[in-house]
Amino acid sequence: MNEDSLVPVLDVTNFSVDYGYGDDAVRAVSDVSFSLGRSQVLGVAGESGSGKSTLVYGLTRLLRAPGVITSGEVTLHLAGERNGEAFNVLTASEDELRQVRWSQVSIVMQSALNALNPLRRVGKEFDEVLRRHDRTSSKTARQERAIELLALVGLAADRLQRFPHELSGGQRQRVMIAMALALRPELVIMDEPTTALDVVTQREIVSELYELRQKLGFAMIFITHDLSLLVELADEIMVMYAGEIVERAPAVELHGAPRHPYTLGLMNSFPPLQGDRVRMTGIPGSPPNLKSPPGGCAFHPRCPSAHDRCRTQAPPLVAIEDGHRSVACWLHDSSSTEVVPVSLSRRAASRIGQGA
Ligand code: SF4
Repeated sequence: MNEDSLVPVLDVTNFSVDYGYGDDAVRAVSDVSFSLGRSQVLGVAGESGSGKSTLVYGLTRLLRAPGVITSGEVTLHLAGERNGEAFNVLTASEDELRQVRWSQVSIVMQSALNALNPLRRVGKEFDEVLRRHDRTSSKTARQERAIELLALVGLAADRLQRFPHELSGGQRQRVMIAMALALRPELVIMDEPTTALDVVTQREIVSELYELRQKLGFAMIFITHDLSLLVELADEIMVMYAGEIVERAPAVELHGAPRHPYTLGLMNSFPPLQGDRVRMTGIPGSPPNLKSPPGGCAFHPRCPSAHDRCRTQAPPLVAIEDGHRSVACWLHDSSSTEVVPVSLSRRAASRIGQGA
């Protein structure tokens, strides 16, 4: 852990989001808490419908109706001229929020094609973002900054003259990343930014993000359903299922020894980016309907290790391994008599065998 990571950027406490109201309300994010330090990368993984995108849209107050934040606190620790100021995201006015978006926190959406205006040249998009935050800047200065930003993500200056449809998917996504960095934010949120891209381009963009983070020092929340991508990029990984955190651990440890059967299932759903070819087994069944989630552990209908207790009692998220990792699974309850299955323990054993 470096010293920078001890400087807080974001604190989230008991954060919950519902879709709908009253008896029709569906809990999409339930009681999520975490903190992020400067230049740290938190990976958030889970299948579609696990609540990961709802979580970040809620945290940035970009959630659309019928999404409703029902509890929690979200504090951004501002930098720059407002260095050290604790900004309460959930009570801030729209005007106050506008002042921190882009400059303190920015977000890269899933589809760059939808995020960029198809009728505008790329240069115009950059100009607008830069001008909105500094109306005194000259057009030349803004153009120079746009060229500098494109260079950061490996794009030539002539891309400023192009319309979005004249760029490849990877180039559009790079444009979005460059725009997100335009005002030097402390926190960048990436919502599945590489999902629509081929594997080679995904890999390139993840390596570029890693280098940019090293160079510029921003913190990042990176959302994906592909755990193997996160291992390359994240310091810590948080796995979500049915709106809840089911496992959180340092990235290398989580990948080397998943403790939650759902984490293991996710790992078996995507091929690793490096190494030998392996057979993918995936996770049987589908994510639960949140209107009528199963009783007990929400994962139990799909879990190969489910036992009686899992069908009636929901496991709490508890710290294990000296607080190094949190997991919500009865297999890791110290009073449990169930044996951790071989498929979960073998990875840990092989890591220990490698001296990890
Ligand atoms: Fe599987 Fe039970 Fe653990 Fe849930 S609590 S993940 S059903 S073993």
